[in-house]
Amino acid sequence: MSSRQSQHEFELTGGVLCLDFANTLGDRPRSTAEHLGGYGDLLSFSRQAGSVPAESLDELERLAEEHPRKARSTFQRAIELRETLFGVFSRIADGNMPEADEIQSLNEVLRQSMSHLQLRVLDETFEWSWDEDRPCLERPLWPIVRSAGELLTSEESRSVRQCASETCSWLFIDRSRTKRRRWCDMSTCGNRAKARRHYQRQKQTRASGQTRPRGGRTNSGQ
Ligand SMILES: [Zn+2]
Repeated sequence: MSSRQSQHEFELTGGVLCLDFANTLGDRPRSTAEHLGGYGDLLSFSRQAGSVPAESLDELERLAEEHPRKARSTFQRAIELRETLFGVFSRIADGNMPEADEIQSLNEVLRQSMSHLQLRVLDETFEWSWDEDRPCLERPLWPIVRSAGELLTSEESRSVRQCASETCSWLFIDRSRTKRRRWCDMSTCGNRAKARRHYQRQKQTRASGQTRPRGGRTNSGQ
C-alpha cells in the first residue's frame, strides 16, 4: 500500500462530495472496480475533489510515510465510512430509510470530525474552516462525513439517485429540471445504454425479418 498520491483520475459525477466518495468503488456487482488501494489514493481523491488544501495534503503524505501503520488503519476506516455512505444513500435512492447502525457509525465519524471544525474571521465576516494547524491522518474524512450530514438534513436528499445502468452502481444528485435523470453520466452509462438499446432493436429487427413471409417487405437499409 502506498501513501503516495496516485494518478488515477476520479470521475466526480455525484454532485456532492459524500456521493463522489461512495462512487470510488464502482460497477455492479459493487465489489469490482476498486479505485482506492491505499492511503495515497485517499489523498488523490481529496486533491481532485478539492476537499483538502494542497499544502495539507503534502503534509499528510509525509505524515503517512512516517506512520505507515496508522495510515493503514485510517485507510481502513475510510473504506468503512465509504461503505456506510453507500448503504445509507443507496437505500435513500430506493425510497427507504437507512439502517440504525449505519446512522450510528456515521455519527461516530461525525463526532470525531466535527471537533476539528472552527470559525475563521475574514475581514468582517466569518466562515467555517477546518483546523489545518495540527496535521491529522483522518483529515480527508472530515469534509466527507460533514457533506453526508448536510445532504441528509437537506431537501436535496430527496434527489439522490442510483445509476440505472445494469453495470454501474454509482450514486448522484438529480439536479435536472425534469427530475428524470437516470444515469450517473450521460457520456458513459447513458451512451452505453443507448448503444445497447440500439443493438437490441437491430437484433429484433433482424430476427423478425427472418420470420417474415417470403415476398414481404424487408427492413433493409433501416
Ligand atoms: Zn453509471
